[in-house]
Amino acid sequence: MSNCVFCRIVAKEIPAAVVYEDERTIAFMDAGQVNPGHLLVAAKAHVENLYELDHDQAGALLRTAARVARAIRAAFRPQGLSVYQANGKPAWQTVFHYHMHLLPRHEGDGMMLSWPAKNPPRTQLSLPGRVAESAAEPRLDLVARRRMVLRSALRDFDRAHQ
Ligand SMILES: [Zn+2]
Repeated sequence: MSNCVFCRIVAKEIPAAVVYEDERTIAFMDAGQVNPGHLLVAAKAHVENLYELDHDQAGALLRTAARVARAIRAAFRPQGLSVYQANGKPAWQTVFHYHMHLLPRHEGDGMMLSWPAKNPPRTQLSLPGRVAESAAEPRLDLVARRRMVLRSALRDFDRAHQ
């Protein structure tokens, strides 16, 4: 028997109010119900976080999220809907089995999110050698440079996983 609470829900070893399930995903009510209709969409397989999802799982999870989001909207008529997904303790992940919260929202519902934007100055940033070719470009701002670092990492990852 798994120690993982979500694996045990998937295996029907502990009860949960399941709303939807298919081959790869399961959606069930969050027992905490921050607002009415608050539910979780989780992978059926034990994958700890976003980094571990394969392409099929990733697609299936968002398809399920969109599907149950429409059901939440129809059933509970929230003014808005937040999707929250955490990876790692600093991001507030508490159950280490991939899931996302679909949280119906209303004006003044007490949900808080601190968003400490740094608004970095548009200055040049010194970066590792692999984006050195871009350093020749004048007036490249911080955000554009970070974008380049990410695109480079994405290409490296895709090459490594071909
Ligand atoms: Zn699990």
